[in-house]
Amino acid sequence: MNDIVMGDKKLSALVDGRCPDCDGIEFLRGPEGGLCINIKCASCGACFNFCPRCAVLPGGYVERI
Ligand SMILES: [Zn+2]
Repeated sequence: MNDIVMGDKKLSALVDGRCPDCDGIEFLRGPEGGLCINIKCASCGACFNFCPRCAVLPGGYVERI
């Protein structure tokens, strides 16, 4: 699945540092590419490609992987 989530309230929780699945706040960092980081929730294991809020992406960006 390749859902782009700008505007997806559920996944956008991640931009604020919380897992959209379990509300966890601890993440394991994976490979980084450009602005984005692959992260994995330490609690439930959900994986996301994540870009923090920045000048290029003011709303941040999250994609489930
Ligand atoms: Zn989680």
